[in-house]
Amino acid sequence: MKLQIHYYVIFAAECHYSVKKAYMWRNDLLTMRKKPIVALIYDFDGTLSPGNMQEFGFIQAIGKTPQEFWTMSDGLAAGQDASNVLSYMKMMKDEAGKSGISLRKEDLRRFGKDIELFEGVREWFSLVNEYGKSKGVKIEHYINSSGLKEIIEGSPIASEFKYIFACSYIYNEEGEAVWPGIAVDFTAKTQFLFKISKGIFSAHDNKKVNESVADDKKRIPYPHMIYFGDGETDIPSMKVVSMFGGNSIAVYNPKIQKKKAFALKLLRQGRVGFAVPADYREESKTFQVVCAIIDKIKADYDLHQLG
Ligand SMILES: [Mg+2]
Repeated sequence: MKLQIHYYVIFAAECHYSVKKAYMWRNDLLTMRKKPIVALIYDFDGTLSPGNMQEFGFIQAIGKTPQEFWTMSDGLAAGQDASNVLSYMKMMKDEAGKSGISLRKEDLRRFGKDIELFEGVREWFSLVNEYGKSKGVKIEHYINSSGLKEIIEGSPIASEFKYIFACSYIYNEEGEAVWPGIAVDFTAKTQFLFKISKGIFSAHDNKKVNESVADDKKRIPYPHMIYFGDGETDIPSMKVVSMFGGNSIAVYNPKIQKKKAFALKLLRQGRVGFAVPADYREESKTFQVVCAIIDKIKADYDLHQLG
């Protein structure tokens, strides 16, 4: 009998523990669901890196200078009244073939490992993630680039991104690039904002992206987006993000006067809310601006929850 009571006590204690655990788990889930997501969306070349991604290994491998490569590529586009993006993809494939370089995914990834990054970029992501965490906000980072996805995947910061939207090739059975699969020009960049908002992690999808989703059902509403860009191809995206209540930041290489003038022009024209030098260190204006935006997003979100 004594032994039986003993078992009852253990059983009751275990039940109590399980219920308590389930209750805690439920609360965790609720807070997790309640945590707003803030998306930081970056262009790559000129925004996170001071050059074009082909200039840190690929162009050298085909024995050209960056100027020679881009003059040929832009010349092809202008001469054929073609897309600059499709032209550079063709030029990369043709020139690699002439130099006996194979263009497999792993080769392209190798050309990404020496990409130069602006000051503070490597530490930036964990810095912002930590700040978001301290404010009860989940941070996600995305790439929206006209460069090559495979090269970005080989870069030292690739694992920081929830998804990389960029150009990529179609590969044959031997794994060789044979044809452009995704070409991202300035208008294509805007469709990826809609995908990010609806939580679609596929460049190929053309159905879910056009389905109507109420603003409060969007995984990441536009006011929770922060878009970073440096060039002409970012203007429609900056405009779309700003138009829907999000935040756009023009980033410029402080060593190039022309880049600074361009960013300030975007600011004057109201296409972006901020223009900052491409410096991502903790003491930078970029971090200051992003922290202030996160604070604002969280305050607006909390106010909305009370309404
Ligand atoms: Mg750029």
